[in-house]
Amino acid sequence: MTRAFNFSAGPAVLPEEVLKKAQSELLDYDHSGMSVMELSHRGKEFMGIIEKAEKDLRDIMGIPKNYRVLFLQGGASLQFAMIPINLMTKSKKIDMVHTGQWTKKAISEAKKFGTVNIVASSEGRNFTEIPALDPAKFSKDADYFHICTNNTIYGTKFATLPDTGDVPLVADMSSNILSEPVDVKKFGLIFAGAQKNIGPAGLTLVIVRDDLVGHAPAGTPTLLDYKNLVEEESMCNTPPCFAIYMAGLVFDWIKKQGGLTEMQRRNQEKAKLLYDFLDESSLFDSPVKKEYRSLMNVPFITGNEELDEKFIREAGDANLTTLKGHRTVGGMRASIYNAMPKAGVEALIDFMKAFEEQEAANV
Ligand SMILES: *Cc1c(COP(=O)(O)O)cnc(C)c1O
Repeated sequence: MTRAFNFSAGPAVLPEEVLKKAQSELLDYDHSGMSVMELSHRGKEFMGIIEKAEKDLRDIMGIPKNYRVLFLQGGASLQFAMIPINLMTKSKKIDMVHTGQWTKKAISEAKKFGTVNIVASSEGRNFTEIPALDPAKFSKDADYFHICTNNTIYGTKFATLPDTGDVPLVADMSSNILSEPVDVKKFGLIFAGAQKNIGPAGLTLVIVRDDLVGHAPAGTPTLLDYKNLVEEESMCNTPPCFAIYMAGLVFDWIKKQGGLTEMQRRNQEKAKLLYDFLDESSLFDSPVKKEYRSLMNVPFITGNEELDEKFIREAGDANLTTLKGHRTVGGMRASIYNAMPKAGVEALIDFMKAFEEQEAANV
């Protein structure tokens, strides 16, 4: 068996220790005689799993007591609608920083429920940077202020958070949650699809401050109202049990590695290796402005589409997989989430060096 170095943006690589642990428990979870997939979600074994997952997540992220943790379904994309349904209830106006495909979708959903004020956009620069923010353009009476902290497709990241005063900051952290410490109390709501840095697809994490729950209009479907999900502790219906179990194993793994400070140290180290190489390379280039570069998703180009294709094909043959850039931007992208070992990044750089030399010899 050979495991690939998988640079997929999502679903993405999981820690090998976590996969092995799941494998070892697959047929018989904790002497239950069943796999986690077969356990009742109301039984004591699964209750133990979801409670430990929440406790470990609270520990590693330092989630304050006045925040609820929800384990939901529907992906980050359903949150683009659930957040306005639940939070866009007073002035029915929100502020949004437009930084790519995922805020585009969030804007289009939120517009169904009220007014979206785009305070800044980097669309004119192909989303290769985070736009400068002018607080004079922020709406004082906005119901919330939406940002995507890390733009998975374009490889940009907020270097500093906007100061939104009393307006709750809502963050799509799908592709950088758990990659470094965050100060949760600066946010009203944090959400993330699990399949980037948490666990398998099918689970969506929402961390929401108490006072933002309970404002959905009458007539809101049961499963779209945070109030019901909070009251039933994510169990209004059958939750994605196996995905929650896997996420719990990842939280436990992060804790044992040394928590988010250690994740940040490793992620900075891996990203530096790759960006330093890109900045020196005569063939490959990073399109993203230095101060906004993501630690998680690293797009790069040769400037020649045929050469990009050749690179992706040959890298795949060398077991460096899923390096194709997003269909809307082309080129390459290496996603180097928590579970990507440093050895994977080193193998990629070695391969890029060899490819560059081979191409130089060809001209
Ligand atoms: C992947 C991703 C999404 C979409 O997640 P789904 O779970 O597929 O809905 C949204 N936002 C960001 C930043 C992402 O990376």
